[in-house]
Amino acid sequence: MATMMKGPALKKMAPWVLLLMVIGFGLQRQKTPQPEVHSVTHLAMGTLFTVSVWGVPESAADAAVAQAFARIRDIESWASRQIKSSLVYKINHAPPSEFFHVPEELALIVETALKVKTLSHGAFDPGLAYLLDLWGFGHGAPDVGKVPDKKDIQAWLEARHRKSGDGIHLDRPKNGAPTIRLDDPAFALDLGAIAKGYALDQAMEALERTGIHNALIIGGGDMIIAGSKGGKPWRIGIQHPRDHDKVMAAAEVVGHMAMATSGDYERFFMADGERQHHIFDSRTGTPSRSGLISVSVQMDKLMMADALSTAIFVLGMEKGQEFVKHLKGVEVLMVTEKGERWKSPGFQGQWLEGPQ
Ligand code: AMP
Ligand code: MG
Repeated sequence: MATMMKGPALKKMAPWVLLLMVIGFGLQRQKTPQPEVHSVTHLAMGTLFTVSVWGVPESAADAAVAQAFARIRDIESWASRQIKSSLVYKINHAPPSEFFHVPEELALIVETALKVKTLSHGAFDPGLAYLLDLWGFGHGAPDVGKVPDKKDIQAWLEARHRKSGDGIHLDRPKNGAPTIRLDDPAFALDLGAIAKGYALDQAMEALERTGIHNALIIGGGDMIIAGSKGGKPWRIGIQHPRDHDKVMAAAEVVGHMAMATSGDYERFFMADGERQHHIFDSRTGTPSRSGLISVSVQMDKLMMADALSTAIFVLGMEKGQEFVKHLKGVEVLMVTEKGERWKSPGFQGQWLEGPQ
């Protein structure tokens, strides 16, 4: 999550323009436009969020959407590692082993992240802030990408190996607020692969509290859907990983569904003849070279889908398939750089374009 949009972060705009195009295409196909769909787009968490609601008078829709955005901004204010007043920033910059009382919401995100870390045997890792900074991904997208010195990566790996376990300690005392402490700066928190999913879940709940049950919220590669457009489905698309103007797969969805996508095209720079992207393998300290370039996960809630799409991206096609076999209610679509593609039988959506 970045506090401001930098030059390369504009790349992040493409999916949203594209997704809005897909939604718009759905609208244009109707003979009469659908004034009932009301969409608002804002920048938050370093990316564009679009909240669309159906069948609500404009003033009520505006008020509800404002509450959804307020929720997203609240979560960003404590979960961002870039905002200096945030709790995560404070935890990351405190002397090692100092502990912090944290609100239940942050404890829940970190607890879920550590669970996915265990489940994925470390493919998912919420403690990569220091490593991401080394590579220049401190504010989401690097201004000028730079492959770090090998010895700096080695020092980070060694600092981690000196500690056993997670290096991130979440405690839940019987009385009182949960606490978090880090063993070492080498475990500094980066919740970029999970907090956005939580924020979108919460934004949808904020809409539901105002009585809105037909809505689509899109943000930074992830989306959450509820209901329909007066019985007509919401149309969603997954961006082609190598052609930003194309939709690779599309679905018509009615009812409740969350979908997260992790891709190597979202934030990257080219160096040493390779795409140096933002999803890291903590075993090597380098961008993941699992062969996957895009992974989408569909579930009922977005927080877990967000974490799992990142985990599967690092695991790769084979291990990723094996991994999801043991998980319930998780549908996956994956594409490799060689153009191999796979989706689980229950995944909602059809291929439109090959990945090449
Ligand atoms: P996503 O787009 O949800 O896959 O999240 C990618 C973001 O999560 C990156 O921009 C980093 O902030 C962070 N991240 C990178 N690699 C990992 C990883 N292996 N596990 C967890 N978070 C990661
Ligand atoms: Mg994710």
